[in-house]
Amino acid sequence: MSDRFLEGRTALVTGATSGIGLAIAQALAAAGARVAVNGLGSQAQVAQALASVQAAGSPEARHFGADLSDTAAVEDMMAQIAAWSPADVLVNCAGVQHAVPIAQMPAATWDRLIAINLSAAFHTMRLAMPGMAERGFGRVVNIASVHGLVASVNKSPYVASKFGLIGLSKVAGLEYAAAGSRESGGITVNCVCPGWVETPLIEPQIVARAEAAGGDRDAGIRELLREKQPSQRMSLPEEIAALVVWLCRKEAHNLTGAAIPVDGGWTAQ
Ligand code: NAD
Repeated sequence: MSDRFLEGRTALVTGATSGIGLAIAQALAAAGARVAVNGLGSQAQVAQALASVQAAGSPEARHFGADLSDTAAVEDMMAQIAAWSPADVLVNCAGVQHAVPIAQMPAATWDRLIAINLSAAFHTMRLAMPGMAERGFGRVVNIASVHGLVASVNKSPYVASKFGLIGLSKVAGLEYAAAGSRESGGITVNCVCPGWVETPLIEPQIVARAEAAGGDRDAGIRELLREKQPSQRMSLPEEIAALVVWLCRKEAHNLTGAAIPVDGGWTAQ
C-alpha cells in the first residue's frame, strides 16, 4: 500500500500523539495525505510524534492540541483546521480507559470518558461532514473497540462510549450514504473494533496481570490474551492503520455503517 492515493487530501487524526492514532497518522501521511495531528502529551512527545508524521510523508503536518473533553476547544480546533485545510478524512482515535466496577466509578470519570471517547467524535463529525458532502468525498473512521460489540466487567463508561460510537457511526453512515458518487469516492463512516493492541492504553492492565503472575510481564500479556483473544496474538498499531488506509480508498465507497472487528476471533465466540 505504498501509492500516494491521498495526495491533495487532508486527514485529521485525533489521539495521534501515541499508540494506534500515531500509527494511523503515519500511514495516512505515507499515503500522501496532509495530516492534522491532534493529541495531548509532553512537549517532547508531541514534537516527536509530529516529526515522525512529517517524515512519513506529510511535511506540512501540523499539531492541533485541543483537549477533546472540552467542546469549545473541539469547535475551535475544527475552525482552525477548516481555515488551514478542511478534513477529507477524519479518524476519531483519541480514547481513554478507567477500569473499576460501576459502584466505584467516579461520576466525573464517567463524564470525562463519555466526552473524550464519544461526544468528541460527534462534534468533529458534525463539523467536518458537511464539507465532505460538498466535495463529494469523505471518510470517517472511528476507532471503537471490541468493547463496542461485547462487554467486559469494570469498563462501564468505556463500553458505553464504544457502543455509542458504533451507533453514532451507523446514523452518520446512513445520513451521508447517497452523497457523492463512485467517481468522487462518496462519503463513508465506519468503525474499526480492535481487540488487544499493545499500546500505553492497556499498560495498566498488563501491569496488573503481571503483578498477579509474580512480576512476569510476558505472563501478564499471555493472561490478557488467554481470557479473550483466541489468536493469542496482540495486534500491532500499524496493522490497524493499514485497514484505516484501505477504508480511505475510492473502491471502498460502498463499505459504510460497518463495525469491523480486528480481534483475533474475540467476538466470533
Ligand atoms: P494511547 O493511550 O496510546 O493513545 C491515546 C491518545 O488519545 C493519545 O494521543 C492521547 O493524547 C489522546 N487523548 C487522550 N485524551 C485526550 C484528550 N482529552 N484530548 C485529546 N487527545 C486525548 O491509546 P491507544 O491504545 O492507541 O488507543 C487509541 C484508541 O484505540 C482509543 O480510542 C482506544 O479506546 C482504542 N482501542 C485500543 C485498544 C488497545 O488494546 N490498545 C483496543 C481497542 C480499542
